[in-house]
Amino acid sequence: MSKNICGRFAPTPSGRMHLGNVLCALLAWLSVRQQGGRMVLRIEDLDAMRCPRQYADLLEEDILWLGIDWDEGGSKGGPRGPYYQSECAPLYEKALQKLREKGLLYPCFCSRAQLHAASAPHLSDGQVLYNGHCRSLSAEEAAQLSKIRRPADRLRVPDRTITFVDGCQGPYTESLPLECGDFLVRRSDGVFAYQLAVVADDARMGVTEVVRGKDLLSSTARQIYLFELLGFPPPHYRHIPLLLAPDGRRLSKRDHDLSLEVLRQSLPDARPLIGLLAFLCGQLPRPEPISPRELLPLFCWDNVPKENIRIPAQWYQTPPQNWN
Ligand code: GLU
Ligand code: ZN
Repeated sequence: MSKNICGRFAPTPSGRMHLGNVLCALLAWLSVRQQGGRMVLRIEDLDAMRCPRQYADLLEEDILWLGIDWDEGGSKGGPRGPYYQSECAPLYEKALQKLREKGLLYPCFCSRAQLHAASAPHLSDGQVLYNGHCRSLSAEEAAQLSKIRRPADRLRVPDRTITFVDGCQGPYTESLPLECGDFLVRRSDGVFAYQLAVVADDARMGVTEVVRGKDLLSSTARQIYLFELLGFPPPHYRHIPLLLAPDGRRLSKRDHDLSLEVLRQSLPDARPLIGLLAFLCGQLPRPEPISPRELLPLFCWDNVPKENIRIPAQWYQTPPQNWN
């Protein structure tokens, strides 16, 4: 096994996986295994209320049923696991402390309503570009406000543009002040922000390639900046197309859209699912049952499309045993 290549699947167990989540796990696995690298399973249950442990257990069971394996993480752990983000607060606290020592953090007392009321442009991921309201509070003002409300921690961004080449989407550029703004690294309820936790984890796990949905492309500039601040090289990124319903909607866990919970009921094994996904992302000329391991020698990133993929109605509406 090539020790240097490391990929990961980092699901949020807020419900059963849908076919889009499966595509992400599959491509991450194919890519890293084809290079002989090691695979990490990291359970991103930072928001413990939304992610009860039984969902994480089901998720592991689903991944194994798909024919996808991993070397580290999950409940079994491997050499350095288990990896549940909900259990790693001291690690994230250490990263936060490093940023604090650099003088880059400030407390933000803005309420959700205040943030949304601010006439600031919206970012592509639905967040509001922060207007910098708390950036210039004096120590006294902050001390006064702390008596009323527990603050969030926000990271000051410099006037910098981050550029990288995404393995699927090509060259990508983002201005930190204009397109990210000062961003949260810890919420006011004490929960560490996704951006911070992901970077702290990818860094300590030695992740060299990140394969994830295109919806996270706009988080990447912030993450690359955090890698730099924490003193680690960023991984190589590949942002893959999202799977859409025939009408163009994104698949949702909440609506149980093509959820494994339903799909597994009518299937003895995962080969028809893997076959349809392999077809939809350019790896097979037509859907035919196949396992991840059988697909491995055929897999080629050049054939994976950039654009989101609408699942044709003929499959969306048919039970998976007829997907061919
Ligand atoms: N946990 C995130 C999700 O399930 C993915 C994070 C990542 O891959 O960076 O959407
Ligand atoms: Zn604020």
